[in-house]
Amino acid sequence: METTVRTTHHAEAAAAFLRDEENVDWHNETLWFVRSKRDKAATLLPEWEDLREQASRIKNHALSRLDDYLVELEKNAQQNGITVHWASDAEEHNRIVLDIMRQHNATQVVKSKSMLTEECHLNPYLIKHGIDVVDTDLGERIVQLRNEPPSHIVLPAIHLKKKHIGDLFHQHLGTDAGATDPQYLTEAARIHLRQKFLLADVAITGVNFAVAETGGFVVCTNEGNADLGAHLAKVHIASMGIEKVIPKGEHLGVFLRLLARSATGQTTTTYSSHFRRPAPGQTMHLILVDNGRTRQLASPDFRNSLKCIRCGACMNTCPVYRRSGGHSYHTAIAGPIGSILAPNIDMKQYADLPFASTLCGSCTNVCPVKIDIHQQLYKWRQVLGEAGAVEPAKKVGMTGMDVLFSRPSLYRFAGRAGRRLMKLFPSLANNGKLNPWAIHRDMPKPPAQSFRDWYAEQEKK
Ligand code: SF4
Repeated sequence: METTVRTTHHAEAAAAFLRDEENVDWHNETLWFVRSKRDKAATLLPEWEDLREQASRIKNHALSRLDDYLVELEKNAQQNGITVHWASDAEEHNRIVLDIMRQHNATQVVKSKSMLTEECHLNPYLIKHGIDVVDTDLGERIVQLRNEPPSHIVLPAIHLKKKHIGDLFHQHLGTDAGATDPQYLTEAARIHLRQKFLLADVAITGVNFAVAETGGFVVCTNEGNADLGAHLAKVHIASMGIEKVIPKGEHLGVFLRLLARSATGQTTTTYSSHFRRPAPGQTMHLILVDNGRTRQLASPDFRNSLKCIRCGACMNTCPVYRRSGGHSYHTAIAGPIGSILAPNIDMKQYADLPFASTLCGSCTNVCPVKIDIHQQLYKWRQVLGEAGAVEPAKKVGMTGMDVLFSRPSLYRFAGRAGRRLMKLFPSLANNGKLNPWAIHRDMPKPPAQSFRDWYAEQEKK
């Protein structure tokens, strides 16, 4: 059965971001700088490719026996005194969190590093039920104060410059007007967040890796906010996607060495905190969330995407992401990997995302767990095309291209005609209404002759 065509479009959603050309250039260069740091860190390890291979194999194995490892994790976590919950979807996850809060008469929660709770839209849900929820990662707190979602999974406020943050903190935290000094602004955020940490009844964290063998889990942060929250609050709730389980503690080293290097070029994340059992007087809950993951697991074409360790390297390298900003992807996880995961959750709503890629393969080259990202994006395009989820204009255009590219003489004629037309009527090519490609791009001047003609000429010489 055909699905109806989507309502949001990546290119249109990127328009607001693209209006500030200077900011776009800065965003592009900053993320490329992070990608370059990743390259340097990778080349310093002679065993880098072996590590990637090992990580990929461990994840493949864990996914092939996911049910066994999850049951083992549950059993060992329970033995350690952790209460384990299972959530089939976002709604159930949010309900479980709220129930736990109500059991403890809790109204204040601090949260750290959890893209899963973004995926489940936990914040608006808790706020609706009268809970004060505060994101404690500095970048996440910044976007929370701006009432917007993170634009990157590792660098949530990377779309903003110091000036934006100075204005925001002046408005919400009472810092001096016009102040942009990072040290001063960070101090102000620290004082503000310390108060929230001290008042919190409950701390929610994400989970980077859960170890079936031990029933423990690891949370990686650069600010130590997960540790502070989880140690100060009486209740610690950790939410994890079911794909985060790995078989043994000895596998952790492989992933921890890859994660920070791929994410920011650091040799290791500043805090890689291991949680095994609740401290005396504390309760600890682990929520295992499916929310479409078993559906992805059952799909041979897309199950590989569940290997993702959320390092963000594919975003930092993606030429489309760097120039369109994370919010244009209108989903919790932006960029190449998000464009594979999102249509699995809602094919209609996210049908545009697999097309927001040049398919250049750079994402696949940097992925530490060897996910064939660009191949999966290409596959999604075919699946969406067959499901009728591609917009009619694109379908007509592709059919036209098929005709053109499969007839060499027609292709030659169209090339000649196009070059002449662009020369005589440049406004046709640059007209955003007739040619949406021209809205955010400068059309190049048409070449005097085609490559084919030039080549034929050289042959004659
Ligand atoms: S798909 Fe690979 S590169 Fe992208 S975030 Fe996941 S692990 Fe990192």
